[in-house]
Amino acid sequence: MKEIVVVSGKGGTGKTSLVASLAVLAGESVLADCDVDAADLHLVLQPEIQKSEDFTGGKKAAVSPDKCSGCGRCHEVCRFGAITRDEGRPPAFAVDPVACEGCGVCSHFCPEKAIRFEPVVDGRWFAAVTPYGPMVHARLEIAAENSGKLVSLVRSEAKKIAEQKGYRYLLVDGPPGIGCPVIASVTGADAVVVVTEPTVAGENDLERVVALAGHFQIPVYLCVNKFDINPGLGEAIERRARSAGITLVGRIHYDLAVTAAQMRGVPVTAMEEARAAKDIRAVWNKLLTHVDTN
Ligand code: SF4
Ligand code: SF4
Repeated sequence: MKEIVVVSGKGGTGKTSLVASLAVLAGESVLADCDVDAADLHLVLQPEIQKSEDFTGGKKAAVSPDKCSGCGRCHEVCRFGAITRDEGRPPAFAVDPVACEGCGVCSHFCPEKAIRFEPVVDGRWFAAVTPYGPMVHARLEIAAENSGKLVSLVRSEAKKIAEQKGYRYLLVDGPPGIGCPVIASVTGADAVVVVTEPTVAGENDLERVVALAGHFQIPVYLCVNKFDINPGLGEAIERRARSAGITLVGRIHYDLAVTAAQMRGVPVTAMEEARAAKDIRAVWNKLLTHVDTN
């Protein structure tokens, strides 16, 4: 099974549309939406959910009032300002779960062993089926942390399905940027496809993503989306990519059929005659000549 992760330096480059389109072409494949902070692959593929579970990413402190003597030591040592005095009689202390980082310092210093740690539900993950294959996706609660952990969970659940079914490809919609969630989504993958647009921001983002993938020694491939909105800059990006040892897998033309497909709730590759669909088919075929032989 080959795991192909599609990433971009920033959101809005067409990454998710490309993943959905590749799923149409890949045949027996499993999809994983690892953009857990802004998951939207399910909007394109309209999955039928078969299983869903809470994601408990971390633990937060909580004071047991019956044990707390009100000494205030925890309040002094918490550098996140998460412990506040509760002016009841007798006075005690309480933890603000939003401010708590779960570092454990308060518990270490509490003389009464009055602080316990409780798991916190940070989100939910889903196993589903789509017209183009099984899919795993997730939803992180607003302001919840641990998105890297959730990304790893989504990937490993998707991998399990791919292995159980004996499928050939795992297609991952990676998070944008270069932070912890991206690292969690590319580590150990077989290929990283960077989707960029011919803009100055796209040029800068490309370099950052490429440096990241290079660090993990994963083969990187470049696809320039909406190439024809600025062919000069598109060619400049391709030159830079080539000189960095990145293989180009193709250009996708700007095509209103992509929007029309989104409005119909299908990937553009389901509309065979669309120009963008032909471009994406060429991208997929070229990508396979590399991925299947590595
Ligand atoms: S350190 Fe322990 S006993 Fe002291 S106020 Fe905090 S929770 Fe209560
Ligand atoms: S676990 Fe850390 S952040 Fe949370 S209340 Fe205790 S000291 Fe503060």
